[in-house]
Amino acid sequence: MSKRDYYDVLGVSKSSSQDEIKKAYRKVALKYHPDRNPDDKDAEDKFKEAAEAYDVLGDEEKRRKYDQFGHQAFGAGSGGGFHGNMNDIFDMFGDIFGGSGNGGFGGFGGFGGGGRTRQAKGSNLRIKVKLTLEEVANGIDKKIKIRRAKIADGVTFKTCSTCNGAGQVQQVTNTILGQMRTAATCSSCNGSGKVVDQKPSGIGSDGMDRQEEVVSVKIPAGVQDGMQLRVGGKGNEVLGGVPGDLIVLVEEIEHESLTRDGENLHYELNLSFPDAALGCNVEIPTVSGVVKINIDAGTQPGKILRLKNKGLPNVQGYGKGDQLIHVNVWVPKSLSADEKKAIDNLKGAKNFEPNPGKSDKGFFDRVKEMFS
Ligand SMILES: [Zn+2]
Repeated sequence: MSKRDYYDVLGVSKSSSQDEIKKAYRKVALKYHPDRNPDDKDAEDKFKEAAEAYDVLGDEEKRRKYDQFGHQAFGAGSGGGFHGNMNDIFDMFGDIFGGSGNGGFGGFGGFGGGGRTRQAKGSNLRIKVKLTLEEVANGIDKKIKIRRAKIADGVTFKTCSTCNGAGQVQQVTNTILGQMRTAATCSSCNGSGKVVDQKPSGIGSDGMDRQEEVVSVKIPAGVQDGMQLRVGGKGNEVLGGVPGDLIVLVEEIEHESLTRDGENLHYELNLSFPDAALGCNVEIPTVSGVVKINIDAGTQPGKILRLKNKGLPNVQGYGKGDQLIHVNVWVPKSLSADEKKAIDNLKGAKNFEPNPGKSDKGFFDRVKEMFS
């Protein structure tokens, strides 16, 4: 694949100022940020591409070379002088994203606030949690059992000999303009500058202990299947850095009689013919317990009744959905001789002739009403 023009990558022009380039990079980086696009390889590639473009255009000297020689300025296949992995991107451009805790971008862990100071972050843990509709409706504190890596008791560390404790190694690339030096995370110590010296028996070479731990996760009301919740600092620990996060993936357990449609719930009510003709009282299950409702005499199949605010809450707290009751009138599938006779007697009876009036809404009117 041919490399895209760095100016195109950031959506800026050759005459853009450094300030404009920085702003443009920030916008692109936030859009493709891994926290917003978990497990999205395409977004990760775009995130890296933008970092590479900014590494060059954000630096007056490198930009000048790029303007003059294009991608060739940095040697064929060298990635524009940028060899970083994701951690290096956070490390190099941490100041672009601002300090931690602003604008919902605390997800960087140690990388946000410290500008260019080095701090590693442990890997994230992912776990699924299954929720009933009732739990979704009310929100719940879930106790979740996880197994996370923690630095084991009794482990001692020594300075990494590969990087002499710096956590970074210098890489030298030959280009037509001479040698380019770039810093990359040390692969021997993953950037911590330290490696395991002594460890108790039963502990692996990484010095980590993996024990079960029960974590309480607050699940807000209204979550949906596929949503991800992040519990900061409950992922794997890492030497000389901050722990990763626990990512909780929400899975919904199907309800036996209610079907979810966003914030609304649907329920199918089957009435016997006599109940529909004579009227009756029925009990309707909802996520907040059983509700008794009155069915009018002469209720037609297909009628939709609405239980206001008996649906699910909006996850952002903007109101609540409804529960819609779809009435069906049950036609017997087999009849005894007596039943047959009784029904036969009603054939031709005046009130049994279909005679829909203006107030009896057709199917399409009801659908329209349902979505209004
Ligand atoms: Zn090292």
